[in-house]
Amino acid sequence: MRYCKGCGFPVPYGKFLAWTSDGTIIGRDAARTRLVYIEVDELRSLYDGVSRLMNSPVDPLVYRAEKEVGKRFIKTLLPAFLAKAPRGKLIRPEAAIKATSKYIFNYMAGLGMGRAEVYEYHSGDHSRVLLMDPHSVPLIAGDGAGVFEFMERVGVQAGWQRIKADEYIVTIQKVSEEPPVEEEFALEEIQYRPGNVQMEKCTRCGVPIAVTGSIYLNFEKGILRHSKTGVRLVAMPVQSFNAVVRELSREFGAALPGLMEGLEQKYTREASNVRETVPPGSSILDMFHDFPWMGTGNPVRANLEGGKVVIAIDNPFHPGIVAGRVAGIYEAWTGSIVRTTWIEDVPGRVTVTLERVA
Ligand SMILES: [Zn+2]
Repeated sequence: MRYCKGCGFPVPYGKFLAWTSDGTIIGRDAARTRLVYIEVDELRSLYDGVSRLMNSPVDPLVYRAEKEVGKRFIKTLLPAFLAKAPRGKLIRPEAAIKATSKYIFNYMAGLGMGRAEVYEYHSGDHSRVLLMDPHSVPLIAGDGAGVFEFMERVGVQAGWQRIKADEYIVTIQKVSEEPPVEEEFALEEIQYRPGNVQMEKCTRCGVPIAVTGSIYLNFEKGILRHSKTGVRLVAMPVQSFNAVVRELSREFGAALPGLMEGLEQKYTREASNVRETVPPGSSILDMFHDFPWMGTGNPVRANLEGGKVVIAIDNPFHPGIVAGRVAGIYEAWTGSIVRTTWIEDVPGRVTVTLERVA
């Protein structure tokens, strides 16, 4: 791995990702995949929280949602020589699979998803993959199953087993001769609301100084941490995040989105370090200063209206979850408890209203 002489970040980082002026992080792949930095504990608290409140394990649902999304990402991520490599049941694609896995595992490590290696591979039948320090086992298992299905043209199921504190074996097993019929998703062109976020960028690699100054990437381990707090982060495709929320909503019903917003608000209230990082006397908008480089969205307005605080975020990665996060940060900053409501009053903007209750 080569590191930038300007900022010390791995050189490929700026080649793969672009930080925009509208509060989004966009991958330089064919699908222009949007990414967002999320704390690993935040993601786990959301999934574990739903599991606890619904009294039902969510891992199989997370896995199922990601398998479909993962397959689509893989197609767009693969360099041309791999995407064109022969695959299917007549020509067993061992070499292509190995090259593909290496490429994808490196990409995932750069995003902070941990390290993976193919441990065993039997073309057309099964594979076992070793995961070290995964951010989420069901998400990676979903990706792995998606790759195997895409390359081998068979239907698979994945299962996993913990072997050490932070090591897992994922087993991908053929279950049918044909892969499930893929829904043809028309990749909709998402229009983001234009913004004027300005970020000073490393002149050599183009990664914003706010990023290189805030996070530390251990590429060998695939672990990304906030350099000041040590908190582990992961850069997650927004479509993966949303696919899981959709799958959980389908399973548990209409109450689910509101429940996840509440979990997010509580997690953020307890975990936020806004009081240490934002100086006293700052404006309300300053509390959300790290939203743009994290890809959370673009904070554009904060007002007091009749005793309520109204905050508008353009291009939120998920309107309800971002509303929960806004509320949690405000609570951490003020030491109060608020009632949260939000609307998408214009496309691509969430307007959050906070009312103090305690
Ligand atoms: Zn640089």
